Amino acid sequence: ADIRMNLMEDGGVMVSALDISSHKRKEQHLDALASTDPLTGALNRRGFESAVSRLREIRHLKGKVWQFGLVVLDLDHFKTVNDTYGHSVGDRVLEKVALTLRQALRDDDLVVRLGGEEFAVLLPSATAAVTKRIADRLAIMIRAIEVPVEVSDDQAVRITASFGVTMGGELREQFVELDQALLAADRAMYVIKDSGRDGVKFLTFDDQIDT
Ligand code: GH3
Ligand code: MG
Ligand code: MG
Repeated sequence: ADIRMNLMEDGGVMVSALDISSHKRKEQHLDALASTDPLTGALNRRGFESAVSRLREIRHLKGKVWQFGLVVLDLDHFKTVNDTYGHSVGDRVLEKVALTLRQALRDDDLVVRLGGEEFAVLLPSATAAVTKRIADRLAIMIRAIEVPVEVSDDQAVRITASFGVTMGGELREQFVELDQALLAADRAMYVIKDSGRDGVKFLTFDDQIDT
């Protein structure tokens, strides 16, 4: 409610309350639209950044350490999927990937579409061991995806992805910001691309500076 108080000339007080719930609902709806990707329903970069600031703030208020696991994945040879089966099949693959990630993770974990066929998963307060294990599991689940090419056909599109994994936040020796963690995860992902795709690589932010 929007509540206002006015002092009247006769010394009285006039209080007015305006119901603004529908205005608030519209505002929240617009906010959700601006933070998610319309095709996959995953967070977009903007939504990702504000969700991360929110999570970090909550951890801070609770006096807890802000540490996160980050997984970046880029679909392998996705251009070939589009070229062979058409863009709309490509779109369905992207939808299925996002759904698979969402279903494999907890509600607190963030699923993000970073761009075209590149996704990220942020695991709040996960350890490095847990993050690696989850990335391995996601790789298996992505390999198991089948997107039918035509309704009455047995032919299905199958895909793989290259995964880069890293840790961010308050680590033992330093604070790794989100964009630094994204750089490290991206670099790890490219190690897999260079070595033939369909795999998982872990790199810390230091690994990235050193080499
Ligand atoms: P690599 O294994 O090296 O990652 O090869 P790739 O073909 O996956 O990578 P490349 O960057 O060459 O191609 C990415 C393709 O993703 C090209 C682009 O048309 C497609 N793409 C990006 N966004 C969308 C989308 O929203 N829908 C569909 N169907 N395709 C998309
Ligand atoms: Mg790709
Ligand atoms: Mg790409």
